[in-house]
Amino acid sequence: MPEKCPECGFRYEIELGFYWGAMYMSYGLSVVIVLLVGVSLYFLAGDPATWVYLTVVAITIIGFTPVLFRYARVMMLYFFGSVSFDPSFASQKNIP
Ligand SMILES: [Zn+2]
Repeated sequence: MPEKCPECGFRYEIELGFYWGAMYMSYGLSVVIVLLVGVSLYFLAGDPATWVYLTVVAITIIGFTPVLFRYARVMMLYFFGSVSFDPSFASQKNIP
């Protein structure tokens, strides 16, 4: 993770250890994925064997790890870092 935003210079680490809370965000997102995959397997695959649940959930979570890592930090910034997206700034800088 970069130390500062290359566009506006915002310092991402608001305080020391700020992103420890992102672990809980990531955990919550992982639980949602596990539930979605489990329910989907139950209804779409007709309640397969336990090892199928475990394998599919593990592969899905491992595949989503980079996304979970980033979105957990973004959620932490939005919920507890007093940070919000400013579309007017983005349009000034031609950020899509
Ligand atoms: Zn920025």
